[in-house]
Amino acid sequence: MAKPFPVEINHMKEKGVVRVTWDDGHVGDYAREYLRGYCPCAMCQGHGGEVKFIDVADAELAEISVVGNYAIQFQWKDGHNTGIYTFDYLRSLCLCPKCNGSKER
Ligand SMILES: [Zn+2]
Ligand SMILES: [Zn+2]
Repeated sequence: MAKPFPVEINHMKEKGVVRVTWDDGHVGDYAREYLRGYCPCAMCQGHGGEVKFIDVADAELAEISVVGNYAIQFQWKDGHNTGIYTFDYLRSLCLCPKCNGSKER
């Protein structure tokens, strides 16, 4: 399977949602709190195997940057910026009905 690649990342500030458009035409909307909660960095996730959701109230997104050609980094207003979300990981977090229908979450 070809790796998913985001062609557009749009932070819709007023809605608190990050919309990612993928090169296969797939569009995923990610709520800020959701993205923050699944921050993949070691500080948030520890070194356990399973990805867990961290509840951060009022998570606010300051900046989005692309890391190399494999990941996206979110800079949060509380200064947290160590989470590197690989495209694969980001895509696996997609909550749209299409993705939800094909897997359990
Ligand atoms: Zn983190
Ligand atoms: Zn999806």
